[in-house]
Amino acid sequence: PSQLPPPRGLELQDIFIAVKTTERFHQSRLEILLDTWISRAMDQTYIFTDGEDNSLRERIGQHLVVTNCSAEHSHVALSCKMAAEFDAFVASGRSWFCHLDDDNYLNPHVLLKVLSAYSPTWDIYIGKPSLNRPIEADEPLPNNQTKSVFFWFATGGAGFCLSRRLAVKMIPWASGGKFLSTSDLIHLPDDCTIGYIIEQKLGVQLLRSPLFHSHLENLHLIPKSQLPHQVTLSYGVFERKQNMVHLPGPFSIQSDPTRFRSIHCLLYPDTSWCPPHVSI
Ligand code: UDP
Ligand code: MN
Repeated sequence: PSQLPPPRGLELQDIFIAVKTTERFHQSRLEILLDTWISRAMDQTYIFTDGEDNSLRERIGQHLVVTNCSAEHSHVALSCKMAAEFDAFVASGRSWFCHLDDDNYLNPHVLLKVLSAYSPTWDIYIGKPSLNRPIEADEPLPNNQTKSVFFWFATGGAGFCLSRRLAVKMIPWASGGKFLSTSDLIHLPDDCTIGYIIEQKLGVQLLRSPLFHSHLENLHLIPKSQLPHQVTLSYGVFERKQNMVHLPGPFSIQSDPTRFRSIHCLLYPDTSWCPPHVSI
């Protein structure tokens, strides 16, 4: 008989989920996440924001992380939050890092299933590219010239995940103040900077998953039967129109404009505020 413990499959507690938000979205965006998917993944979810909030603090305690980042929609402010998420993940010792925006609905069980196909000891960067071609960055050279580099990145608005092994390799460009200087160097936003470090500095390629969704794609096109099988969903404005998933109920568009409450009742009909299922 072996002395080794039995092999253990990946569990939700092995994942560190970081949600990026800002003070002015605490009510309009976070509330619904806390009522829905976060309530099913509280132990591994951390909210990164830029302002203290007593009622949020009371509700989620140390799962609210107030960074020193400014409350602006600037590359610097957003990269500052990504750096805080990254450093907190490294310190957490968990196996997987997943980043989400505050307009994402996450299905934790599908995420677990997707990540279970890989080992955290491999170099894994998984998400959805936001462009249909690689992005171009101008890397400064010592002689005041620049060199064009091309790489793929996962759009932050659809969520993406990194294995611990890859994250550890990223530390020289991503930890402490380094993430800010890296994004400053290439003049690109935080999610592009993640792609730059991974593809350009480490030579690891983005794994594309069709199961991550941002509001930069037409969410109406996802068939209802497929909704329970997606890792992330979103809502927002796309081509100057409201963009959300297509789900007829149980809540009206007026009472559930993001459709997140309706999605949640589809996935977890036993939730106290979901209408009782009426069979015909
Ligand atoms: N965000 C932020 N600070 C800001 C504006 C936005 O941290 O000043 C966060 C926001 O909470 C969200 C993400 O950045 O998680 C993307 O913001 P938004 O959805 O408003 O913009 P998008 O880029 O998707 O159009
Ligand atoms: Mn958004």
